[in-house]
Amino acid sequence: MRFGELRFRDCGACGLRDAMMEILWSRMSVKGADLRESPWAVLACPRCANLTTIKLVRMDTSPELRPHDPIPLEWHVMIERVFPDAEDTAYSVGHLPDDIGKHLKGAIRVLQAGVPSAAAVQLRRTLEAAAAAKGVNEPRKPLVHSIQKLISEGYVTKDFEQVLSHVRKVGNMGAHHTDEDLSESDARRALLFTVQFLRNLFEVPGELMALESDGEESGDSSKESTVT
Ligand SMILES: [Zn+2]
Repeated sequence: MRFGELRFRDCGACGLRDAMMEILWSRMSVKGADLRESPWAVLACPRCANLTTIKLVRMDTSPELRPHDPIPLEWHVMIERVFPDAEDTAYSVGHLPDDIGKHLKGAIRVLQAGVPSAAAVQLRRTLEAAAAAKGVNEPRKPLVHSIQKLISEGYVTKDFEQVLSHVRKVGNMGAHHTDEDLSESDARRALLFTVQFLRNLFEVPGELMALESDGEESGDSSKESTVT
């Protein structure tokens, strides 16, 4: 791709799709201690103003540019790494069991493809799988019952009770043929609810367990980290 095309991308910080970012800085060569050189660029999101840093691989080899020069927009480059990458941050949940993660990724993918009703189905499966993982899934009852149980049994904070309406919308979707399709913004809010809910349910306890095992280890001579 040409360097100038890099501007059109999804923002990994706020999730804005096909943002036209501003290239704030770029340099033909940043040299490491091992003398290896890479081009780098820094872009700003027009909505959230967070910066995205991109490590590039140079595909053009004309010699007239010096290492400190900015990268010309028409130059051919390839992306090696992006920080933060789209989806990496906005919807990432640590310590999430694989089967639940698969449903969540599916929901994000279909929502980005513009099919909110399909995203609702995936979100419902995500939340059902999360409830099942904690042993409170009630297959014959509405999804919102399982979620309420997770709250009442103290798996997640009470604050989620106030936004259970997002679960109700997702849980009812498709139950009756007269149901209205979920709007894109409904689906997006339900996705954000789900992500926060899963963080509370899996990431926080997972991080606390990692902290605890780190503490135990620092008691002896072993310094190995157990964070996965
Ligand atoms: Zn942004």
